[in-house]
Amino acid sequence: MSQSDAGRREGGLEAPTRHPIEWRSEEFWDEHKLYDELERVYDICHGCRRCVSLCQAFPTLFDLVDESDTMEVDGVAKGDYMQVVDHCYLCDLCYQVKCPYVPPHEWNLDFPHLMLRAKAHKFRQQGAPMHQKVLSSPSSMGRLSTLPVVVQTANKVNRTKAGRALLDKTLHIHPEARVPEFANPPLLKRRSVQDQPAGEATAAGPTRGKVLVFATCYGHYNHPTMVEDMVAVYRHNGIETRVYRGTQCCGMPKMELGDLDAVEKLKQANIPELAAAVDQGWDIVTPIPSCTLMFKQELPLLFPEDEQVAKVRSATFDPFEYLSHRHKAELLKTDFKTDAGKVAYQVACHQRVQNIGPKTREILNLLPGIEMQVHERCSGHDGTYGVRRETHKHSMKIARPVVNKIKKQEADHVVSDCPLAADHLAHGAGMSGGEHPMTLIRTAYGI
Ligand code: SF4
Ligand code: SF4
Repeated sequence: MSQSDAGRREGGLEAPTRHPIEWRSEEFWDEHKLYDELERVYDICHGCRRCVSLCQAFPTLFDLVDESDTMEVDGVAKGDYMQVVDHCYLCDLCYQVKCPYVPPHEWNLDFPHLMLRAKAHKFRQQGAPMHQKVLSSPSSMGRLSTLPVVVQTANKVNRTKAGRALLDKTLHIHPEARVPEFANPPLLKRRSVQDQPAGEATAAGPTRGKVLVFATCYGHYNHPTMVEDMVAVYRHNGIETRVYRGTQCCGMPKMELGDLDAVEKLKQANIPELAAAVDQGWDIVTPIPSCTLMFKQELPLLFPEDEQVAKVRSATFDPFEYLSHRHKAELLKTDFKTDAGKVAYQVACHQRVQNIGPKTREILNLLPGIEMQVHERCSGHDGTYGVRRETHKHSMKIARPVVNKIKKQEADHVVSDCPLAADHLAHGAGMSGGEHPMTLIRTAYGI
């Protein structure tokens, strides 16, 4: 069937399925085949244009088409194709919430994973500039920051104009972007997250009542209070909670760079130990949706034959999905003591695409006195996209609709499942900082 015949049936009726990423096949790395596939998919997108407002990748594509001689994809120089790829930060929204042509539709369109393939090609052929390699290595940067003196110096550099000029010059970080500070002490040195004696675990639905927290690089080195809040809330609700002692990144930033070999190395650093913990009865929860998505979706699609990856996937939960299961079983305490006030809540893209439903909203709605506005739009932060010199302005443009609503609401708190997104939005709205929703829960408990 030709594409135009298939196009008479708009979209598929069946539930979307995601194909494994065949990154070890010869076809994946064949340059001609990649460019043929880019042309095929760009042509479908040009005829559809539903995703124009999602990010800068689609407007870049449509501008290239509209400004070409033919005003069709065949008029766009192949050398310009990567401009589109460079604007994709793999948020997955176009696949999960917009595209009617995803498999099992015969057009078999998976825009984010095609972008990933193109990024992987580019990385294998050209590598990446030093600043991108550094920015995509948050665990290495974080470990460096734990050295005495380094943490104070790094934070001081971050706060001065001269320091920001230096960051711009060396790491291409835009001088106006908000850059997270390094925490002192880092997470694993804090008493609040040390192991406690085991209690009796109570299962509820798919949750087993014992949680190992994959704290994330951001939680280890930049924002440990987010993890402390999560541990406190979980323990308050009788969930035995420990923090995984490994400090290697989940691999998402390397994936966004197209460095799939580095993703594999990080997988090997984390997964065997996490899989062993699952065997010992632990569920895995991470406070950042990108890391959750890495364990739930991306690693299983990159390594479909790896049984340990599958084991970790089956035991990994979003933190509010976990609490929601406990709430359904009447195991969540609702002895909240303080009002939450006006809350602007942004649903992080990487949580939205997990298809778990609005679990954060459901739990936040239990808080007394909450006046919540929910924003189901991208924050524009998206990994390093929001801080890089070349992309910061696009990221602020993507954030603008939500920022305007936050200002109008005069919100007391800006929260997002992704605290980097919350910070980015709060920064745009001229507020001091964003918060993780778990912080609101802990504050309301007064614990
Ligand atoms: S995955 Fe996200 S950033 Fe990439 S093209 Fe789709 S919507 Fe845009
Ligand atoms: S990804 Fe799908 S929905 Fe988005 S523009 Fe392309 S064809 Fe349309």
